[in-house]
Amino acid sequence: MALTVDERREISETIARSCRIMGKLDMTHAALGHVSYRVPGTETMLIKGKGPNEVGVRYTRPEDVIEVDFNANKVAGPDGLQPPSESYLHLWLYKTNPEVQSVIHIHPRPAVLLTICNKPILPIYAAYGTGIRLAVEGVETYQRSITIHDDQLGEEFAGFMVNRKVALMRGHGVSVTGSSIEDATVRAIALDELTTMNYQAYLLGDPQPIPDIDLAEMQKPPDPNRTRGSSGGDAGMRATWRYYSMLTDEYQS
Ligand SMILES: [Zn+2]
Repeated sequence: MALTVDERREISETIARSCRIMGKLDMTHAALGHVSYRVPGTETMLIKGKGPNEVGVRYTRPEDVIEVDFNANKVAGPDGLQPPSESYLHLWLYKTNPEVQSVIHIHPRPAVLLTICNKPILPIYAAYGTGIRLAVEGVETYQRSITIHDDQLGEEFAGFMVNRKVALMRGHGVSVTGSSIEDATVRAIALDELTTMNYQAYLLGDPQPIPDIDLAEMQKPPDPNRTRGSSGGDAGMRATWRYYSMLTDEYQS
């Protein structure tokens, strides 16, 4: 299903905004990282381009987003931009997980430092903030430290991420999937909050998981239709996206 010009523009703007939000939150540096979106019904994706005319993740514009097929070849986009070498990371997650609509790969410092020192990601808070459910589900580390730059590595990495929505990558970065660009972005931010808190707790001393009774509470499925407090489910995700959009001056109603 080919996208209309307006749809392509809107998706490219959302990819660019996701990049700018994570860049402004210092979740990655320079041009290291990319956000992508699976074009529905096709074997192509829209992704932040790299190459001679690349810009830093923090400064991404819609015109920095290009279309790349599942052989990692550029289909459409301006001269001076080319597929990221790690297009294989994205396209293999799409090929092996039909429900994945968006992939984020970035290089956040706290997460990478924890992999370097082999520190497990512990469920050290519940009420404080987001990310605890990721810790309860288990945040694991892919042990290779090189870029995912060919089909063999892409297939291997996608195999590692089966049944996972987040993964740390030793001495490299993190990868996150989502049902939309906004969903993947909010999950990447939650992972950053969790790994930053773990990193700082390890610096302070000997972090301890929350009590078992609270861990059991966190293992219950979240209520998507809460009648008190913040919304759960998709509405809650969109409220979080709106907050970080406002925080980083990216808000558009
Ligand atoms: Zn990378």
